[in-house]
Amino acid sequence: MAADLIAVVPDQCTTAGPGLRPTLAPSVGSFVGRDESAFHRATDPNVFDWLDHVKAAAGCSHPIRLSGEVATVDRATGQLLSAARTENMPDGEIYKPCGNRRHAVCPSCARTYQRDAYQLLRAGLAGGKGIPASVAGHPAVFVTFTAPSFGIVHTRNVKRHTCGNRRRCDCRAEPCHARRATDPTARPCQHGQPSVCWARHEENDPRLGQPLCLDCYDYDAQVVWNHSAPELWRRTTIAITRHLRTRARQLGLPWVEQVTASGRVRRVPPAKPSFGKVAEMQRRAVVHYHAIVRLDGIHPYDPDAVIPPPAAFGVDDLVAAAEHAAATVTFTTRPHPAQRAGWRIAWGEQVDVRPIAADGEITDGKVAGYLAKYATKSTEATGHVSRRLDGEVIDLYANEHGSHPERLVDACWTLGGNRDWQHLRRWAHMLGFGGHFLTKSRRYSTTFRILRNARVVWRRTETGHEYADQTEEETTLIVGLLTYAGSGWRTTGDALLANTAAAMARERHEVAREEFAAVA
Ligand SMILES: [Zn+2]
Ligand SMILES: [Zn+2]
Ligand SMILES: [Zn+2]
Ligand SMILES: [Zn+2]
Repeated sequence: MAADLIAVVPDQCTTAGPGLRPTLAPSVGSFVGRDESAFHRATDPNVFDWLDHVKAAAGCSHPIRLSGEVATVDRATGQLLSAARTENMPDGEIYKPCGNRRHAVCPSCARTYQRDAYQLLRAGLAGGKGIPASVAGHPAVFVTFTAPSFGIVHTRNVKRHTCGNRRRCDCRAEPCHARRATDPTARPCQHGQPSVCWARHEENDPRLGQPLCLDCYDYDAQVVWNHSAPELWRRTTIAITRHLRTRARQLGLPWVEQVTASGRVRRVPPAKPSFGKVAEMQRRAVVHYHAIVRLDGIHPYDPDAVIPPPAAFGVDDLVAAAEHAAATVTFTTRPHPAQRAGWRIAWGEQVDVRPIAADGEITDGKVAGYLAKYATKSTEATGHVSRRLDGEVIDLYANEHGSHPERLVDACWTLGGNRDWQHLRRWAHMLGFGGHFLTKSRRYSTTFRILRNARVVWRRTETGHEYADQTEEETTLIVGLLTYAGSGWRTTGDALLANTAAAMARERHEVAREEFAAVA
């Protein structure tokens, strides 16, 4: 039996949330903080009932506590099957994980989010989770869209990797910015800073992503670009769709007469791309996108059906469409007193388009794993971490003459002082970027909500029901008439106990999996 959950609480920040909390320590409700709290709970004879009760949120740094009533209703008849009041449960409350996607905010929830992101992205390429297995045969490409340059930064460029694990890459890099002495661009800049760097930077070199000269760097253009990236992406998806439509005409493919829900007939192109993408904040603090583009066919009666495109389409057509869009899509922002003509927004020159194939270099599992990794990050790579900024704290983070991130925040704040550009202030803590870190087109794959609901959230109610961890036919509906009771663990002791139990469970799980793998 699987179940839907309807809770009368706002969904907790699963996408771009507020800025980082300064510490990873479990947060604790304000009303208790005694040192002996762990002792009290641990020696309570009901401690195992309590641990069972909080299991779903046990690893969370900052769970949401809810109180009220949970009712189980038969979906077909509307009959009330059971009802449980939280006042009869341990602590009189239900614990729900915070659900934050960011590793730096809640490692446990971020792990869950990353797993879901992987499942979601992979299902779009290999099928499963309600997506037909035939998607594995659709043409699909993996594209990296980068931003243009806003000034020279220290980079690490490895021509040929010989390392086994790219995450622990220790390969010898090329010199950062080599120039012949006779090259006129090798001269120091007007601020006296060198424009050449012969260092072969290591993977963890803090200079990576830093400009060679902070004063030469175009901070205004970079934050405006970050802010415009979602719009640039939107236009890019339109350009890819148009390019494929033109290609369908060239191939002489007939348009499909599709019957809409209202019974109207409309003529649509015979193939359509669907997208899954994540944003990555690079070390130089500019966003770039990693995207999966898949080509689908059009079903005449079911607009939601995912079917193969006409056989005349090949993966080359998708490569051509993505490359064309990356090279041609551009627009100019609205004017700003600091830039009367507005800023021109386009992708950088380094666009990488690769076919995804089950037997190729880029497989569905690799791509999904790669993208899911970025889905739990935010601005960490840039060294800037803060919550949403306001006039009171801005001076702590913004400095026109300060470090690279300080100058970016300053550019957001200064440009955002203009009435038409206020949104730049709103997103100053994200260095201008106000988009989502993971998005997908509706048809690409399943949703986070479906994946989340399929998991056990309320594992056990007073009636002792276990809600199965699967997506079978949904026969019951769980309606939570719950109100927010608080957030965080009640005591430091509770946090310790629950987090430790979760860590031990995870460890057991991992050991079991390794042993199973060894036997297999
Ligand atoms: Zn959490
Ligand atoms: Zn360098
Ligand atoms: Zn390497
Ligand atoms: Zn300079």
